Amino acid sequence: MTTPDTAGSARDLFRRSYGAEPVGTWSAPGRANLIGEHTDYNDGFVLPFAIQHRTHVALAPRGDGIIRVVSTFDDSAVEVPLSDLDALFPTRRDEVVEWARYPLGVAWALLAASGTPADEVAGVDLAFASGVPVGAGLSSSAAIEGATAVALAENWGLELDRVALAQAGRRAENEAVGAPTGIMDQMASMLGRADAAIFLDCRSLDTRVVDLGFEAAGLDLVVIDTRVSHSHSTGGYGDRRAACERGAAIMGVPALRDLSVADLARAAELMDDVTFRRVRHVVTEDQRVLATVRLLSEEGPAAIGDLLVASHASMRDDFEISVPELDTAVDTALAAGAIGARMTGGGFGGAAIALIARDRVERLTDAVTAAFAASGFARPSIFTVTPSAGAARDA
Ligand code: ADP
Ligand code: MG
Repeated sequence: MTTPDTAGSARDLFRRSYGAEPVGTWSAPGRANLIGEHTDYNDGFVLPFAIQHRTHVALAPRGDGIIRVVSTFDDSAVEVPLSDLDALFPTRRDEVVEWARYPLGVAWALLAASGTPADEVAGVDLAFASGVPVGAGLSSSAAIEGATAVALAENWGLELDRVALAQAGRRAENEAVGAPTGIMDQMASMLGRADAAIFLDCRSLDTRVVDLGFEAAGLDLVVIDTRVSHSHSTGGYGDRRAACERGAAIMGVPALRDLSVADLARAAELMDDVTFRRVRHVVTEDQRVLATVRLLSEEGPAAIGDLLVASHASMRDDFEISVPELDTAVDTALAAGAIGARMTGGGFGGAAIALIARDRVERLTDAVTAAFAASGFARPSIFTVTPSAGAARDA
């Protein structure tokens, strides 16, 4: 299921804003993470997949050296001479309205990555429309970055592969926006495939397409967005990152990725209990990602449920980033017949995912909605995500 009307919205916005026809539309998806949480910045493993919700961009080149962006989020266009991007990012980024830093930051990072002087490429007009829910843990940010990257790279004739496009998106997010994120989201959005996940080694950036087989097994992946905002989690996130760095330093390794489960006994002796439990989450989560990849190929998706459940328990008890809404979502999903469920994303709110037989999705939806009401929580948003193709020019 793609979102043709979102491409249409991008085209309509383009015509309305610029009074001209775009030369085409490009798009990139959001993503969900099947397993591998808080492992990315520890140089470890993740297993995300691209989803069917996409951000589309309509584009046309223009005769001067100006880049202009407009979005359905904010109808007023932002325009900047391409030759000014180097001066704006990262130091003067506050002069650019926040949402526009994503596409303009990608333009800046692409020119830098390809060593292209700004006066050697044509100006461009861009118009964005998105079907990716914002702030639901599905990475609308990677979607707008990815759509911008494929559209500009093609129009400017840049010789950059998909990993380089993902890296430009991450650089935009880190330096032009100022959000300290890893590269998982951009890699998933760039490399996604239908009914498959992307196994990513966050140290080497090696990737492998891993068949999920949800279709053949009759399984659906359900997202339960608790609507609990994780905007206050900055402190918690930074604190977890610091604990991981501390743990690695105590163990004398560059990153927690370099520890195995056999090292945990020594870790327990060397560090305080809280740091140890943060370390144990990351070390065991890396192992769960590897085990998930193995089980998917050897036994199929119905076999991975226990690993999802163990991942949740580890985040709840060791990493301590769950909240009552997420625990309720996971427990209720399992009671309603899910073969596995866990919170996903940074924590302190956001969404949980549940893997469940297609004919039980309605039962799960009703059960979770009722459990949230009974606990006095806000009504959750519950929907199915389908592993889908990555960034591309639209047909
Ligand atoms: P998410 O979890 O959805 O990635 P982020 O805070 O990382 O949440 O990114 C969301 C931000 O990305 C929005 O607040 C907005 O600034 C920007 N963004 C995403 N999609 C669009 C779009 N289609 N148009 C304009 N801005 C967008
Ligand atoms: Mg994001």
